[in-house]
Amino acid sequence: MTSHAALQVLPVPAFTDNYLWLLVRGDEAVVVDPGDAAPVEAALAARGLRLNAILVTHHHPDHIGGLAALLSRHPVPVYGPRRERDTIKRLTVELGEGDHVDVLGRRFEVMEVPGHTLGHIAFFGPATDLEGPILLCGDTLFSAGCGRLFEGTAAQLHGSLARLAALPPATQVYCTHEYTMSNLAFALAVEPANAALQEHVGRVRDLRARNEPSLPSSIEQELRINPFLRTAHPSVRDAAAAKAGHEPADETEAFAILRAWKDGFRPPASP
Ligand code: ZN
Ligand code: FE
Repeated sequence: MTSHAALQVLPVPAFTDNYLWLLVRGDEAVVVDPGDAAPVEAALAARGLRLNAILVTHHHPDHIGGLAALLSRHPVPVYGPRRERDTIKRLTVELGEGDHVDVLGRRFEVMEVPGHTLGHIAFFGPATDLEGPILLCGDTLFSAGCGRLFEGTAAQLHGSLARLAALPPATQVYCTHEYTMSNLAFALAVEPANAALQEHVGRVRDLRARNEPSLPSSIEQELRINPFLRTAHPSVRDAAAAKAGHEPADETEAFAILRAWKDGFRPPASP
């Protein structure tokens, strides 16, 4: 392995708005959450890459649908959440809180981040001498938003997001969906006077007009723009209070109010 080459993280778009992230070093690659095999095979072939391992954050079909087809051609280890072993079925290495994975010369720490699903895990790669910290967070944290509560409680997802928010500010955040523009519309409804948010909308609008990903984000940026990480801020708490008609008792309740508000939110038509 050419371990002196820098680690690259490339988006492989799939379905309507998924990114199947490809970690690449030299001629070796690791794919994260391969919901579909065809775009992964195409990306490997186009760059002459050999698949080395597969990382999985949770059991939803748009994150594991390509496992069987990929494994039929590449006999590689599949690292994923122990708590979802029965639904994912193809795991070869079952992971939980405190475990780590070494791939492509990087170590990733496993964090259990329940809420979107109960067994959901995230992979955090601490900074090295040469490379900055990176986070592969699946459907837990999105730029300016967060995953829906399919299996867990608001308290669980709020706790999971608080742990991600406490990672180093420079951490590059690789979310698995391009939801940023519609998330920003909601974030602006919550915090219309947030200048960082207004500024970011312009940047993302330009990127998306050129069909470029709005990702990765960073923890530092999310702390400025993501209402689900900002439940301690008076502007977010006040918006939650106005929505619910009462003062939230704590940050978790403010989070629950925001999550339910977002579930029914339709972005205003953009000019
Ligand atoms: Zn999901
Ligand atoms: Fe998903």
